[in-house]
Amino acid sequence: MDASAFRAWIAEAARLVIDNTDHLTHLDAAIGDADHGVNMRRGFRAAVALLDETVPATPAAVLDAVGRTLISKIGGASGPLYGTAFRQAAKALGEEPAVPAERLGAALHAALAGVQRLGAAKEGDKTMVDALAAAVSAYQAVVSSGGGLAGATRAAADAAERGLQATVAMQARKGRASYLGPRTIGHEDPGAASAVLIMRALATTAGKEVT
Ligand code: ADP
Ligand code: MG
Repeated sequence: MDASAFRAWIAEAARLVIDNTDHLTHLDAAIGDADHGVNMRRGFRAAVALLDETVPATPAAVLDAVGRTLISKIGGASGPLYGTAFRQAAKALGEEPAVPAERLGAALHAALAGVQRLGAAKEGDKTMVDALAAAVSAYQAVVSSGGGLAGATRAAADAAERGLQATVAMQARKGRASYLGPRTIGHEDPGAASAVLIMRALATTAGKEVT
């Protein structure tokens, strides 16, 4: 994937986030403060506007610009977390003009590590980590058995979706939702739901790459 493919990923993620703003807000209304959809839409709109204006030259520059924008525009808990995820992914990409499957796997892993370093959530705490960690493992499994970008990102998106579904039975142990304790059981985690959209956008974009 080159810089323009990374810009296409963010544009597709923004499209899905905008389409699902009400859904994300609805999920956050059940176990949080009903702002996740609006937060994410604000952040991704700003990220797309910045990318259109500045057209960063490398994949890393694209993701770093996205991370900085998300930190400054989303707010809440998820702004710094997603911002850190994209900035750590950028760091892992280096300065190469095109990113092969293995390197993208390292970037996804770095993104997850950044989220966990900042937010201290483990799998099972009912956060975006449940979707992201499942996605990273599934991605790595496909690449280590010789698969390419399209298959690995598709497996990652499917696993993120299963990670999201698994949050329904969990009790929130991190963030605002944790204040509601057992009342969070029975609901999808909003951050895990937005993570699925971002991973699905990546699979759509990578699926169009000729490799
Ligand atoms: P806020 O909770 O500040 O209103 P958002 O509504 O935008 O922020 O985001 C809520 C989401 O952030 C949660 O659904 C969860 O996935 C994620 N989140 C919150 N705290 C953490 C954390 N410590 N680690 C990982 N993810 C977290
Ligand atoms: Mg919220």
